Amino acid sequence: MHAVGIVAAAGSGLRLGADRPKALVPLGGRALVCWAVDALRDGGVSDVVVAVPADEHAAFATVLPLDVRLVAGGETRTASVRAALAALSDPAQPITADVVLVHDAARPLTPPEVVARVLAALEAGARAVVPVLPVVDTTVVVGDEGVITEAVPRHSLRRVQTPQGFDRDCLVAAYESLDDAGVDAGALTDDASVVRAAGVPVATVEGHERAAKITVAHDLAVAELQVRT
Ligand code: C5P
Repeated sequence: MHAVGIVAAAGSGLRLGADRPKALVPLGGRALVCWAVDALRDGGVSDVVVAVPADEHAAFATVLPLDVRLVAGGETRTASVRAALAALSDPAQPITADVVLVHDAARPLTPPEVVARVLAALEAGARAVVPVLPVVDTTVVVGDEGVITEAVPRHSLRRVQTPQGFDRDCLVAAYESLDDAGVDAGALTDDASVVRAAGVPVATVEGHERAAKITVAHDLAVAELQVRT
């Protein structure tokens, strides 16, 4: 089974308050995107394509290894992953792969064992698999007035992480069918949602707290502490 990695790194980092794209923000002296690429490689994925902001190609090329392929991302995460998927089939430089692992640059400290668990589930026959963690807080629905309207039983809820693994043909077909299905692609925040919209069952494996997503400044401060320990 040959695996290829896609790193979604074309986000802006507005919520982080950074002066550059989030994936270029340093953690322990290295850009987040470099950590994310290493996470995939340490877990057993060697070929990696990174979707970057269209006008930041040079900045990403400066920090990433030469053998990582860069493609221009899009307005939404879905558009960025779609562009990277298309690059795998570029007739000028096709990449052979049976399975694709899609990872967020914003999850730099994902341990290799999470990548390995995703690969093992694909090897065992899953067509789509995501790492998940339980929800530990009481979880509620809040109405427009800011008042709780409903408590949601948390025992069956999970937080979904990346990398998310897919049979390549299945993922390509799901992206191709998105437009026809009348789904608002921009509203989909991960790739499991894309294949689920195409009717594909999504399996789960255990995620890891270190695979947490860096969104706001506090998350980056926590990650800085983690790389020092
Ligand atoms: O915004 P959020 O943190 O949910 O983004 C998750 C990942 O998707 C990040 O790694 C970000 O760089 C990526 N992304 C992207 N293209 C976009 C928006 C987000 O590749 N247009």
